[in-house]
Amino acid sequence: MNILFYNDSQDQLFHISPRQRRVALSLSLIMVAFTLIALFFAREKLPVLASFFPVISAWGIFGDALTAFILFNQFRASRILPLLILACTFLLTGLLSLFYLLALTDMMPGSGILSPGPQSAVWLWSFWHLAFPVGILAFGWSMRAKKDIIPLSRVPAHLLTATLAVLAVAGLLLLLVTAGRDHLPVMIENGNYRRMIESGIGPALWAVNALAFCFSAFPYRKRGVLRVWLSVSTLSFLLGLTLSLAAGERYTLGWYGSRIDSLIASTVVVIAIISEVNKLFTRISRQHEELEESKQALESANEQLKELAGIDSLTRIANRRKFDDVLKQELNAPQRDKEHLSLLMIDIDFFKAYNDNYGHLGGDMVLRSVAPKLESEALAHFGFTARYGGEEFAIILPGHSELEAEQIAELMLECVRSLGIPHHYSGVSDQITISIGGCTLHPGEKATPHDLIGRADEALYQAKAEGRSRFVFAKPVRPRRPFS
Ligand code: GH3
Ligand code: MG
Ligand code: MG
Repeated sequence: MNILFYNDSQDQLFHISPRQRRVALSLSLIMVAFTLIALFFAREKLPVLASFFPVISAWGIFGDALTAFILFNQFRASRILPLLILACTFLLTGLLSLFYLLALTDMMPGSGILSPGPQSAVWLWSFWHLAFPVGILAFGWSMRAKKDIIPLSRVPAHLLTATLAVLAVAGLLLLLVTAGRDHLPVMIENGNYRRMIESGIGPALWAVNALAFCFSAFPYRKRGVLRVWLSVSTLSFLLGLTLSLAAGERYTLGWYGSRIDSLIASTVVVIAIISEVNKLFTRISRQHEELEESKQALESANEQLKELAGIDSLTRIANRRKFDDVLKQELNAPQRDKEHLSLLMIDIDFFKAYNDNYGHLGGDMVLRSVAPKLESEALAHFGFTARYGGEEFAIILPGHSELEAEQIAELMLECVRSLGIPHHYSGVSDQITISIGGCTLHPGEKATPHDLIGRADEALYQAKAEGRSRFVFAKPVRPRRPFS
């Protein structure tokens, strides 16, 4: 589906905007007004501006060539046949107006088969003004026929055949007006081409152009971007022809005016296409930015998710998974060779009894109060706290010797007591208390997480057995050597 082509596209960008419709309509009305005024003075003789005609024509030829080039490429991308017909129309129009420019400015060979006669330029002009509307009509006709997409494999053949056909037609017409110059009916005498009108060729050309305009402009509502601007192009072509025929002579106001009209005809379509391509570029850039933004948002959401994956939902402190990671890291850290590493396993005393008597929700509240208290106490000693499971917590204390860890354990017992949470069903106190089992690894001492946790757990079991609300430390694996 060609985005410039059809108006039934859901794509807002290429759906012709009301503003663009207004611009096209305003430009058309201005051109009509300009032509109507110019018609009154069409026969007014103006000075022969030697450079005006070549400059304006060259510009127009460039516009036709560029439009043809873009449309050929659009056909290649979309494989819609009407686009190929339109591309050929602009190519043929551009070639014929180029030949017209060469003939009128005496730039064709002075002798030989390609040398022009006095009728050559006006006949080239006529063919040029016939080729454009016929091409537009063919385009309109192909639009009404089925909108089949050409198979990819046949695109190069279509492009080659179409281009060769255009070159052949342009070449034959050139030969006709140059080599066959003597057989051409006279249409212009002393710069006056009234004969062209009298012979009916001029009115016939006008009729074909008027038909092409009607064909391309109506029904107006159903037109997409390209076709709206194509109708502006056919209108200005028709208006130019009207002025030219009314002028009847070269270098009159009408003749000059018609040159401007045909310039507009050959440039509006290419400007419309370029502006649509610009819009496409802008949209791609915006989408790229949006993509970057959502990528960043996704990355930060991922980060957050990773964080959340390591957090216990009830107590908001680190969970078991995070604890496993941190312990593994600490055991493999380079400073392990020089520093102690202590671990405390903490369990709330008689917690089942608390739950049974104060309710599960009450138990949850206790966990929520104890966890941050332990965490802030551990943090004060650069320790890491996690909920190990149920009503058990684990604290990793990197760089702390056994003695220091025991002092910290004492502080932990005290800080939980200081919370003053009543527990009248505890066997050791009337408040919530904890028991702690600890162990310490000496610098360079190797152990797996499983070993370390096992030793701290054993100590915790002993603390429970010895009466709870206390700490017990596991015996060091490697007895410290006395200083000598
Ligand atoms: P001990 O002093 O020997 O540790 O006795 P205890 O009752 O604390 O030990 P036990 O392991 O038998 O009981 C632990 C209880 O913790 C059992 C379970 O219902 C409770 N528990 C585990 N997770 C949660 C939780 O997320 N919320 C609440 N409210 N209770 C929990
Ligand atoms: Mg327990
Ligand atoms: Mg317990």
